[in-house]
Order: sequence, then structure tokens, then C-alpha cells
Amino acid sequence: MRAALDAARAPGADVPIGAVVFDPDGHPLASARNARVELADPTAHAEILALRAAAREYGDGWRLEGCTLAVTLEPCTMCAGALVLARVARLVFGAWEPKTGAVSSLWDVVRDRRLNHRPEVHGGVLESDCAALLETYFADRRPGGE
Ligand SMILES: [Zn+2]
Repeated sequence: MRAALDAARAPGADVPIGAVVFDPDGHPLASARNARVELADPTAHAEILALRAAAREYGDGWRLEGCTLAVTLEPCTMCAGALVLARVARLVFGAWEPKTGAVSSLWDVVRDRRLNHRPEVHGGVLESDCAALLETYFADRRPGGE
């Protein structure tokens, strides 16, 4: 999760959300920061970018079996769907996202019993550090805000 926080803190115009994919031995394969603005791509969430880069480095081209995805914020429906499709073994996330979260807040996409692949989930890891990064980002953007 510290590596995902480092990815989130990388320079960029977007909301600071970071993700890292680790191989089954715990070595980082790829990390990414949310980059929707830079890439003019509504799907350029940190998780999607990290999964794509990791799949180029590891596995048979798209399966990330045995891998762990760490992300600073609870994934949305798109990212939750993508990590299930990538067969990620373990999802670790930091802050809860009550407005769009798809790993228990609004939906639980990754543990739906109808799916044939369900990753192990650990939420709320370094939650306050992950949430503080987002709070600072949004506070700096509010008029007259601190
Ligand atoms: Zn997402």
C-alpha cells in the first residue's frame, strides 16, 4: 500500500489515486496513477493502467493469476470488473469510496457469488493516509479553502 501511495503522489493533474500490481512473490510489476486528464481517457483509472502494464510484464498476456492489486481507493465498478477479468488473486485497498465504491460500499462486484473468480479482499489498509491525500487534494481546489 505504501507503493500505491507513492504512485498516487506522483505529479499529475488528476485526482491522486495510485495502484500497484505485485507478482505472486511480492515483487512490483507495474504501478500507475489516475491519469484521465493527461490521457484524455475516461477509463484511465490507476487500476486499469497498472493492470494493463502488469499484463505486458507477467503471465500469459492477460491473466494475472496469483497477483495482488493494491490501490489507495476502493475501486469503482469498471475497475472491480477489470480486476476480476484479470484473475487478480488479492485486492488490497486504502480508503472507502461511499459515492462510487464497488467493493462493498455501493456494490460488491468482486465477491459476487455468480462469478467464477473472486479475489481475496483487504479494505481499509492505511485508510487514513489514503483518505488524507484525497482530502488535501480537494481542499486545495475549493474556493478560499485550505
Ligand atoms: Zn475505477
